[in-house]
Amino acid sequence: MSKLPEDRTENVFIDFKKPYTTSQALAEANRCLYCYDAPCITACPTSIDIPKFIRRIANDNVRGSAQTIFESNILGMSCARVCPVETLCVGSCVYNEMDIPPIQIGKLQRFSTDRAFEKGWDYFEAGPDTGKKVALIGGGPASLSAAHRLRRFGHQVTIYERDELLGGLNTTGVAPYKMKADASLTEVEWILSIGGIEVKTGVEVPKDISWEELRAEYDAIFVGFGLGKDSYLKGDNAEASGIYGAVDYIAKMKLEQLDVSSVKHAVVVGGGNTAIDAVRELLGVDIQNVTMVYRGGEHQMSGYVHEWAEAKKENAQVSWRSQPVGFVETDGAVSGLHCKKMDEHKKIIEGSDFEIPADLVLLAIGQGKQGDLMSGLPGLEIEWGKVVVDEHGATGCPGVYAGGDCINGGKEVVNATADGDVAAQAIHTFLTGENNG
Ligand code: SF4
Repeated sequence: MSKLPEDRTENVFIDFKKPYTTSQALAEANRCLYCYDAPCITACPTSIDIPKFIRRIANDNVRGSAQTIFESNILGMSCARVCPVETLCVGSCVYNEMDIPPIQIGKLQRFSTDRAFEKGWDYFEAGPDTGKKVALIGGGPASLSAAHRLRRFGHQVTIYERDELLGGLNTTGVAPYKMKADASLTEVEWILSIGGIEVKTGVEVPKDISWEELRAEYDAIFVGFGLGKDSYLKGDNAEASGIYGAVDYIAKMKLEQLDVSSVKHAVVVGGGNTAIDAVRELLGVDIQNVTMVYRGGEHQMSGYVHEWAEAKKENAQVSWRSQPVGFVETDGAVSGLHCKKMDEHKKIIEGSDFEIPADLVLLAIGQGKQGDLMSGLPGLEIEWGKVVVDEHGATGCPGVYAGGDCINGGKEVVNATADGDVAAQAIHTFLTGENNG
């Protein structure tokens, strides 16, 4: 596993949510009502038995608590940090209906899983060899989750990853005040420690190895290759320096040292979670003026309300109902964003042109879908660039399964993890006829 530089930019960030001490975790765990038919379980895409893991903390069985989490979600450590718990488990806790603060499930999950990593507790081993081989395309959460479950079933697995690092957006895209890249890589190593997961990095499918070759060599294929490159805006001076895709730029912040000392005005275009993360990260590296530019109003943005509320507290500026139509350039470098105002129906108001000063522009307006990379596989269906699958992750091509962002267009780590696990169980049934799900 590559060693990350210590002086990388993300290391200036501190944890947004402080971890619990043992006494804090015990106090919180003892508040849980251990509900029957607990709504927090239903709200979790990986269906972790939340009351059970919390009760185990309360009973001073932290090792068992972490086991309960990992049984359902092998990426439980990262999900504890990056899940939008406010809209999932914590948001559905029964205490919300009583106007009592809900149980801090994410922080309790972090408490148990961090302890498991610190202590080096081991829970899983590979199953007896079945002689079946599965290829996993992409090294992010969906494939890691699938690979681990498939190893527990005893299948031979090989992960093919285009880049050098595994972990996908957990490694390169998570806001560093939630989780840093080295924590993701530690989790990757922990998952690989089950043994027998072959990893081939720097291999791009289908460029370096074709689908036909993969189908000939493996008994089943899982595709979890996520989304493609950032989308870019057209318009005047779109080639000026200082204009980046947000996902690309965030990856640089996480893996390298960036010099932002000359940036006076940064602009982030978009209204989703990537845009909000980018705004907060730029503010976090002490850029004084950071403006989000969004073509709708506040109630129309797709980013989480709780994340935007935090960005506002951190002094984020915003230009609502603003459509970028080009860039202003000075000596080859971007110096501003040329916008037009939009009405409430997102129609451009003619004659409403204005400029926002910017010496750095990040575009968080979406990423390409990669479903077309799979074209040519017989029976496969692609819709708007997304791979079409059934509820078990099966594509229309026998033996080919998919999960994560390439089927949903971009959701949470926990959704990708759940997809990988569901597909692994379906692949096991496909390969052996057994249903151990
Ligand atoms: Fe505990 Fe809340 Fe879940 Fe009930 S809904 S089991 S109180 S975390």
